[in-house]
Amino acid sequence: LDAAMVRRAQSGQDHSHSPLSHRNSSGKRYDYLIVGAGFAGSVLAERLASDGGKRVLLCDRRPHIGGNAYDFHDASGILVHKYGPHIFHTNSDAIFSYLSRFTAWRSYEHRVLADVAGTLLPIPINRTTLNGLYGLDLRNDVQAAAFLASRAENLEAIISSKDVVVATVGSDLYRAFFEGYTRKQWGLDPSELDKSVTARIPTRTDTDDRYFQDSIQAMPLHGYTRMFENILDHDNIDILLEAEFSDVRKDYKAAHTIFTGPIDEYYGYRFGALPYRSLQFQHETHDKRRVQPVGVINYPSEEIPYTRITEYKHLTGQVHPKTSVSYEFACAEGDPYYPIPRPENQALFKRYEQLANASPNVTFVGRLGTYKYYNMDQVVGQALATYRRLQAVTSDEKVA
Ligand code: FAD
Repeated sequence: LDAAMVRRAQSGQDHSHSPLSHRNSSGKRYDYLIVGAGFAGSVLAERLASDGGKRVLLCDRRPHIGGNAYDFHDASGILVHKYGPHIFHTNSDAIFSYLSRFTAWRSYEHRVLADVAGTLLPIPINRTTLNGLYGLDLRNDVQAAAFLASRAENLEAIISSKDVVVATVGSDLYRAFFEGYTRKQWGLDPSELDKSVTARIPTRTDTDDRYFQDSIQAMPLHGYTRMFENILDHDNIDILLEAEFSDVRKDYKAAHTIFTGPIDEYYGYRFGALPYRSLQFQHETHDKRRVQPVGVINYPSEEIPYTRITEYKHLTGQVHPKTSVSYEFACAEGDPYYPIPRPENQALFKRYEQLANASPNVTFVGRLGTYKYYNMDQVVGQALATYRRLQAVTSDEKVA
């Protein structure tokens, strides 16, 4: 399967069930075998092939490229994200300009509302949220900050996620927005979760209702999959889809492996499995142009089984008489999505990392390879840095 075939196969519809094989690559030798065609694997494949002049074999167990950022046109022709909404945002001009070689963009600022007992309120919490929830008329930052301070609780130590929220906004807002949502999302009470989980959610005293505040916020104009097709469109890159690393490694030889799958899987789970939270998505198409006012509505109540609903046309800007949404359900079993941020899990990861440090012929990159929640731009940054490191090692070897 050459890059052109990948392009044809991926555009237009979901090919989850169509077998894809590879162009005549058997018997070829490669400089690099890259496992995983998400951001980490694809960016490294592109850099190694086009900048480094290396021959690369890229494999993925899924029937498509793009990893979790994969998007496709559903049966009604609406562009949807198979693994949940992916919004690109970054403060790095370098990362944005690298990706801009492979896609044009549409400007998009993400907005999220939370459904609190039937009322839709902005999240992250801002002044509009406070006024809406409490029936107040806070007019400026000073008044909003004073109100939050009057609600915030004095805690001796901030250890868990719950502590972070209660110390910033108090128990009321904690219960309305975080408690149920976090329990559903993680299967754990916020008091059992590392403070880093909610440290990512800011609280605002102004009326800025954008979900992100990064200097660059945009979506690939023709979608993520098209961007990945362009990233991987190089003669030095061969792609194997529906291909497990354990099978590929038997048939193809490469001097070095780059592994962007789960690090514990690579080492046969010898110290035990690293815990992940998984997700399930229920996609639906409605015979209407729009069903919700913003791209994502969160459902914090534990009485509602899903965590959020995404309406993709807000994100993609697509004009279409119908609209598609996905309901997101968090669960324990399934594909690994979110590393569960607890100290004992980090300790277990460190044991695997020690094995990795002693394995010179394999490099671990990406969200699963380094057991850390990264946004897409961070994974691109990590992959570009890894490429520079690999280049430095190669030139040291040449000197030696
Ligand atoms: P992945 O995209 O997961 O790619 C890894 C690939 O490796 C997979 O395709 C997998 O099939 C393959 N693989 C693994 N093991 C093997 C094996 N043994 N053999 C063959 N193939 C294998 N980031 C943002 O910046 N903005 C967002 O809005 C955003 N939303 C998100 C929403 C959800 C629901 C999730 C889960 C993540 C979101 N992210 C978002 C994060 C984003 O998905 C990641 O940063 C990015 O996908 C990581 O890329 P990756 O290459 O490390 O991993």
